[in-house]
Amino acid sequence: MRRTEAVVIGAGQAGLAMSRCLTQSGIDHVVLERGRVAERWRSERWDSLRLLTPNWQSRLPGFRYQGPDPDGYMRMPEVAGFLERYARSFAAPVEDGATVLAVEGGGAGYRVTTDRGAWETRSVVIATGHCDTPVVPAIARQLPDDVVQVVPTRYRNPQELPEGGVLVVGASATGVQLADEIHASGRPVTLAVSRHTRLPRVYRGRDILWWLDAMGVFDEKADEVFDIAASRQQPSLQLVGRPDRATLDLPALEGRGVRLLGRAVGAEGDRVFFADDLVAHTVAADTRLARLLQRIDIFAARTGLDAELGAPEPFQPFLWPAAAPTEIDLRAEGIRSVVWATGFRRVYPWLQVPVLDARGEIRHEGGVTPSPGLYVIGLYFQRRRKSSFIDGVGDDAIELTAHLATYLRRAA
Ligand SMILES: Cc1cc2nc3c(=O)[nH]c(=O)nc-3n(C[C@H](O)[C@H](O)[C@H](O)COP(=O)(O)OP(=O)(O)OC[C@H]3O[C@@H](n4cnc5c(N)ncnc54)[C@H](O)[C@@H]3O)c2cc1C
Repeated sequence: MRRTEAVVIGAGQAGLAMSRCLTQSGIDHVVLERGRVAERWRSERWDSLRLLTPNWQSRLPGFRYQGPDPDGYMRMPEVAGFLERYARSFAAPVEDGATVLAVEGGGAGYRVTTDRGAWETRSVVIATGHCDTPVVPAIARQLPDDVVQVVPTRYRNPQELPEGGVLVVGASATGVQLADEIHASGRPVTLAVSRHTRLPRVYRGRDILWWLDAMGVFDEKADEVFDIAASRQQPSLQLVGRPDRATLDLPALEGRGVRLLGRAVGAEGDRVFFADDLVAHTVAADTRLARLLQRIDIFAARTGLDAELGAPEPFQPFLWPAAAPTEIDLRAEGIRSVVWATGFRRVYPWLQVPVLDARGEIRHEGGVTPSPGLYVIGLYFQRRRKSSFIDGVGDDAIELTAHLATYLRRAA
């Protein structure tokens, strides 16, 4: 049995940022990682994926992107390389290939069991990721057996799908990107759309994320927003990071021939049913986007950027021409595969400390759980809107390390 002051579970950006801050504070710790550093960026992403955050936005405590292309978007091997270099920069004490099988105990200390031995520790930081396990709606079970079903963590490229049409369910970042590349491969794509966040890639000559960063949107704190539960349910940004900085929204997809339908709500045999809510969702997304662009324009005027940038760009609402069908027949239409781009959930089968709520989520206040010495980091909007992003987890890590250090001092 090995002993340490803190065990961090997971060596993605969240676990590494935490490790960097613990190292800075002189707190003895280990980072347990079932795979390798940045494992999910290596093995759970598709081939063509690039970050949707620009390179300059890859900022972690004591480390940042310093390459020649600050406005570009990293491919996955580059992300893994970036995080590997980060780990090396402070000699992060990562134990690779150690899967955590159980976390037991409480305030008096924890026992962390892995497939490579056990640790005794006074504190534990769970950094196993917000995007842990793909959500697959119950209707998946009603689909015929010969329809191939794929989740984004397993999808690699269109060539792995059978020939024929593809139904992509979900129109956030993942759904629109996969719909676009599958369609480009020559397979007719139907995209089931529900709540989404429409954004242009570039507005008035600046990356949309530059604007959100400059306006402090990502810094918004969880305890300051009107309804944090609602904010935590917000869909991911409908964006893609491509060298041409193209916008990938529903009008763009429709223009290329992707068929848009409402939310997928049921299935029976070969038939799949959709809500009659496409217009409602696109109008809602447009309303939010128009409001955001207006905020940007006000910000630009107030900060004197107007002169530099030229006039505000007119907003182009998505004009939906015809009612979308609410039912399709997969066989009749030659649709042979379904991609579930329906978000992620988190599962903690190894967590034997009673901190999970009825939905299986960890109960916490800004990452501090009700079990003294047990923390979580990297959840969506955990302390700030940016908490689950490469650029955002660092501030949370600094604050959680301060909390953890105080806890260790008091408990000593
Ligand atoms: C498709 C996609 C694209 C994204 N694009 C961006 C982007 O452009 N920019 C951005 O800032 N964010 C992006 N994100 C969001 C976020 O940055 C990623 O989800 C990122 O992986 C989160 O990092 P993390 O360290 O919190 O968790 P993860 O990267 O999920 O790391 C968790 C680690 O824990 C390990 N682990 C899990 N269970 C165990 C166990 N039992 N024992 C030991 N180890 C375990 C895993 O192997 C993994 O390495 C994207 C997310 C997705 C899904």
